[in-house]
Amino acid sequence: MRGKAQTVLGLIDPAQLGSTLMHEHLLWNITAPARRGESLGEPLNPGQWWDLLNSHVGNLHNTTQHDHNRAIRATAEMVAHGGQTVVELTIGGLEPDPEGLVKVARETGANIVMGCGHYVHDYQDPANTERSIDSFAKEMIDQVQLGAWGTEVRAGIVGEIGCQWPWTDLEKRTLAGAVIAQQETGGALTIHPARYEDHPWMLVEFLREHGADMSRVIIDHIDRTIFDDDRLFRLADAGVVLEWDLFGQENTYYAHSDIDMPNDGSRIKAIRRTIDRGHRDQIVISHDICHVIQFSEFGGHGYAHIHKKVLPHMVKRGFTTAEIDQIMVVNPRRLLTFI
Ligand SMILES: [Zn+2]
Repeated sequence: MRGKAQTVLGLIDPAQLGSTLMHEHLLWNITAPARRGESLGEPLNPGQWWDLLNSHVGNLHNTTQHDHNRAIRATAEMVAHGGQTVVELTIGGLEPDPEGLVKVARETGANIVMGCGHYVHDYQDPANTERSIDSFAKEMIDQVQLGAWGTEVRAGIVGEIGCQWPWTDLEKRTLAGAVIAQQETGGALTIHPARYEDHPWMLVEFLREHGADMSRVIIDHIDRTIFDDDRLFRLADAGVVLEWDLFGQENTYYAHSDIDMPNDGSRIKAIRRTIDRGHRDQIVISHDICHVIQFSEFGGHGYAHIHKKVLPHMVKRGFTTAEIDQIMVVNPRRLLTFI
């Protein structure tokens, strides 16, 4: 695998990856564990759009997306606007559908790189609480080398490994296993930090202790986690990759924690400051779409948003072609190439 990237259709030359969204979901179930098993209820109603945006749990049709054709239409839209690769991080606890991703890749021509491992504690299979670090590590190594979730479809990245606050022992064991999987497979490791501004730094300390390759670790969801440059730059100085992956979320009101959600303009300014400080090779971006109302056919921004709106806006704000190429092509290619 060394020197190659791995999509759901197999190994490819990393030069074929092109412009890449590093954190998305195409087929998933992010319904709160307490509501699993309920009937989906009333279909989505456009009149509820704003309420759903600001309190995601209101409608189970919004949190469940197993429709292959809908995923194909949404991905085709990204391809039509210049996107070539999607990193799809639906993993244990979120009902991954590897065969569905194969279908989307075949129908759209997009490269789809699948993640592996487990999401946050509350979403994990209760049976996992008894499992060891080595058992998690072996599972993730197998998912990269042999196939995932009972299929022969292989993962191309480790994660998004989930953490909640307070950070649980189960999540620490899962992450320690993921570090071993990173070392054994030569893949990159992508981590969903807890919704707590000091947690990313706790991750850095944990990863150092466990011997992770920091240059191949991605800290996800910077936009909803870090709100000051001291924490931001300290993290950048640790050598990890920073991922602003909530592009298109333009609402102040965030349903999952008491923060003021930034908009795309503030995200772009934070990226500018990070580049100006010398961290151009540590930045990636995405939309992390995981609610159906974010699909363009339901009135949302959709998977084409970054290529359609954000990149032209960055140009208007003075970003050079080389900087945009670094964020969209060069950094993802380095991370998705197995070493
Ligand atoms: Zn995600």
